[in-house]
Amino acid sequence: MSRNGGAAGGLSRRARAIEVSPTVAMAQRAATLKVQGRRILDFSVGEPDQATPSHIVAAAVAALHAGKTRYTPAAGLPELRAAIAKRYEEDDDVSFTPAEVAVAIGGKQALYLACQALVDRGDEVVIPTPHWPTFAECVRLAGGKPVLVQAREANAFKVTARAIGRAITSRTKAVILNTPSNPTGAVVDAADLLALAEMAQRRHFTILYDDTYARLGFGAAGETGLRAAREVAGDRLVVIGTASKTYCMTGWRIGWILGPKWLVDACAALVSHSTQCPATFAQWAAVEALTGRQDVVRALAEEYRRRRDFVHTAVAAVPGVTCVRPEGGFYLFLNLKAHLSRRVPTTLAIGSRLLEEQGVALVPGEGFGAPGYARLSFARPMDELRDGVARIASFLGGLRS
Ligand code: PLP
Repeated sequence: MSRNGGAAGGLSRRARAIEVSPTVAMAQRAATLKVQGRRILDFSVGEPDQATPSHIVAAAVAALHAGKTRYTPAAGLPELRAAIAKRYEEDDDVSFTPAEVAVAIGGKQALYLACQALVDRGDEVVIPTPHWPTFAECVRLAGGKPVLVQAREANAFKVTARAIGRAITSRTKAVILNTPSNPTGAVVDAADLLALAEMAQRRHFTILYDDTYARLGFGAAGETGLRAAREVAGDRLVVIGTASKTYCMTGWRIGWILGPKWLVDACAALVSHSTQCPATFAQWAAVEALTGRQDVVRALAEEYRRRRDFVHTAVAAVPGVTCVRPEGGFYLFLNLKAHLSRRVPTTLAIGSRLLEEQGVALVPGEGFGAPGYARLSFARPMDELRDGVARIASFLGGLRS
């Protein structure tokens, strides 16, 4: 965004303050190269490459034909609120009533609404980093101050209650946890979640628990510790979730917030004066996704585990690259520091040359507050992953010689 131009044109301070990710230019360059006919192996993607399962699509089509084409309540279809609550009951053994669920236009809007409803000017929100950039921007848009807490590669990027505890002050309004993490794939251990739940009660802050990638976890099922955390934290635990990744529904834009009724009602009030509701047929599709057959989710998680196993082993074997094995999601976070030099001083520079010379797109770590790293999405077919890792290895080998 041209900030000065924006000021002259009358843009608000809020709009002018939005950080546009330095990686956007690279995504645009990758798109341009594709249009020019170059084969680009695009590992910058943040969405499954599989199509939405056909029974979910059929439910949307049936809803349209049945005339379900009008507004829904601002908090979402009652059937969908109930379906979301039931899914968490079954998958996480955690219980929220339908009145404690609001539907949103994707996890992004859910997070935006939660921040708008909870955060006042000057409030601090603790965010473990490396982090998904939207977390910090959502906090800033609400007038709050993101407080970043470093998770270290030496500790497998684990977010610990101890590290978070050191960042809590009397101004802390919330802590954002993203497990499994985008971009590191690290999971918050159940013991740390429980310790944070106790801390939230004691120090009066809310845990915003983003479980976007939870159903694509590679550990044993049912170990998130969400139930125990809810028992301890009560109203101070808010879950932000989405149908996007679990059901290959990124374009349908269905997400949710689970939390105390007063927060859910505030989110619905914000929605009622802005977007009213997510598309009604998409909500009906989400009802089918959540209440219908779940073997599609298990198959997806299995496929991502297969890809993770391959790509992690292959990347870790590239000289000068280290990489923690992700416990969930579909990202690998590569440490490329050994390849930085005067000629290529940043991972932005590496990313841009890798794209031009090898046709491979990664997301440089600068966008996640982690210079020296790059994110590789393995939400791409195996043959592309094989070819892509070979190209990355050849490019990095060339830098060293
Ligand atoms: N949370 C995290 C950590 C994400 O990576 C994403 C998407 O990439 C989202 C939330 C939101 O996804 P959506 O708005 O598609 O539901």
